[in-house]
Amino acid sequence: MKRKFLPVLALSLLLSACTAPIQPTPTSEPTSVPQANETLLAMDTVMQLTVYGDNATAALSAAKSEILAMENRLSVTLEGSDIWKLNHSEGQPVTVGDDAVFLLETARDLGDKTGGALDVTLYPVVKAWGFTTGEYQIPPEDTIASLLGRVDYTALSWEGNDVTLPAGMEMDLGAIAKGYAGERAADILRDNGVTSALLNMGGNVQTVGAKPDGTAWRIGIRDPQKSATDYLGVLSVIDQAVVTSGGYERFFEEDGVRYWHIMDPKTGAPARSGLTAVTIVSHSGALCDGLSTSLFVMGLEKASDYWREQGDFEAIFINEENEVWITPGLRDSFSLTQNSGYTLHIVEE
Ligand code: AMP
Ligand code: MG
Repeated sequence: MKRKFLPVLALSLLLSACTAPIQPTPTSEPTSVPQANETLLAMDTVMQLTVYGDNATAALSAAKSEILAMENRLSVTLEGSDIWKLNHSEGQPVTVGDDAVFLLETARDLGDKTGGALDVTLYPVVKAWGFTTGEYQIPPEDTIASLLGRVDYTALSWEGNDVTLPAGMEMDLGAIAKGYAGERAADILRDNGVTSALLNMGGNVQTVGAKPDGTAWRIGIRDPQKSATDYLGVLSVIDQAVVTSGGYERFFEEDGVRYWHIMDPKTGAPARSGLTAVTIVSHSGALCDGLSTSLFVMGLEKASDYWREQGDFEAIFINEENEVWITPGLRDSFSLTQNSGYTLHIVEE
């Protein structure tokens, strides 16, 4: 009998391993709004989808189908996916779906704007460190140097849906695909008449509208130094994506040094920018996801400059000095937990 509880335990551990919605406090008046729930494993993540309203069940089913279909098209490991085909194309053009093209365009745009901090062709380096298999290792410097010679997102080209990846290169959309899946799922829910939903996709949270009672969703921002359920603060959002990249999400330790899965394409090693986690808030899940990864790589100063230049998102930066820096638009929606041990700062406009 005991065995039965193991998957439940594993599931709850996974769910709590990231930025997550804080469970609503029960009120004296339970909501009478119909609700549909689904937990699914997709894109290497346990996803919890909660949809409210009369059409909740049908809408949720449509959103779930789209997430699974996107995984089939965009997974780097699944044989026959668009990305798998590109990685096995030997430099020949491959016809891919619209979502892959959209993500390639988004990733190239973000790559250009972040000075190459986001590079979807970093995959051979990520593989060499073992982050794709869990067989972690610190690759020799000459291996990294030679692999970096095969990293350059500007070498990818496409005409319409025909994409060419030069022979010898490999790519992965893992840094932005999940955010886009959340965004697409939210669009499908809205198309199906849904005005209130919460999609918890690991470090990515996508909201549709407000809670059924009209109040904002409350999202816990994890303390990077503590366990998964320790929040250093809470963020209130309505109809936004909230995506976090943290050094605590996937890592290994050797000789007391922590090596994480967010890599600096300039060094081919885990990004050491002084930041321990970055949360991005915006209407676009894909933008949030791409930026949470690349601004982590860039560090507080350059990331703040980027925000001042672009300004189409809000951000929470957490650094090694136990400081939490928020952009001014979050002043009223973010609050530190009491006795968090962190100090709160506002990024200058
Ligand atoms: P995220 O969890 O969204 O921050 O994405 C991290 C994942 O994207 C890693 O597991 C790698 O597969 C990949 N990745 C790591 N660093 C980069 C980078 N600088 N640019 C693009 N992809 C990256
Ligand atoms: Mg990301």
